[in-house]
Amino acid sequence: MKKQFAIIGLGRFGTSICKELFHMGHEVLAIDKTEKKIEMAGAFATQTLLCDATDETELSKIGIRNFEHVIVAIGDDIQASILCTLHLKDFNIPRVWVKAQNDYHHKVLEKIGADRIFHPEKDMGNRIASFLTSEKVIDYIDLSADYSIVEVLASKKVNGKSLIDLNVRARFGCTILAIKQNGKVNVTPDPSEKLNQGDIFIVIGNKQDLMRFQEAAL
Ligand code: ATP
Repeated sequence: MKKQFAIIGLGRFGTSICKELFHMGHEVLAIDKTEKKIEMAGAFATQTLLCDATDETELSKIGIRNFEHVIVAIGDDIQASILCTLHLKDFNIPRVWVKAQNDYHHKVLEKIGADRIFHPEKDMGNRIASFLTSEKVIDYIDLSADYSIVEVLASKKVNGKSLIDLNVRARFGCTILAIKQNGKVNVTPDPSEKLNQGDIFIVIGNKQDLMRFQEAAL
């Protein structure tokens, strides 16, 4: 379903969100205070607007109140990011998602009601560290400090074994959500079917349990 988004701040983070949403067919309003950024965004936004997002009156004039979902991707200028978020929450916009620069910025954003807070550089650093420490991890989503979902590549150790043989939940305390075979995701795998090297397990669990699973079972 087509949705409407407003992206404030067209640095690398804001621009990539903008491009992806536009590519997915959504309506995207791209906002920046720099003319050059606005000219560039014409190629990947439904509408572009030159606006200083710290100015409550300007934000009100451009009709930001009509948006249900606004992403604040102002990076370096923490004060501007906080002020803009404050205005958006004062306008009662239901979903205000904000990029945070550091933990102090995060705390303030939380206090003023940001609905979701991102740390793209930190998150990407964690992801890359996970890939580096295990050649079997293909992808990774952090759910909390303790829990993750990982995609793990099966080695030849699984050849001829089934999910019943692996007995993952009892042995490791994590749960297989789905198996990817030949590019297709199967969310209801047959527990007695034989597995093969190259299959990809999508597993949820505590990080330590997931680590034990990767090391021992595969
Ligand atoms: P990235 O790492 O994603 O490239 P960054 O941390 O370098 O981002 P900045 O360059 O500081 O982020 O800001 C991103 C964009 O936000 C810039 O294009 C800047 O012009 C815009 N911006 C900054 N302040 C405002 C503001 N008050 N109103 C609108 N846009 C703003």
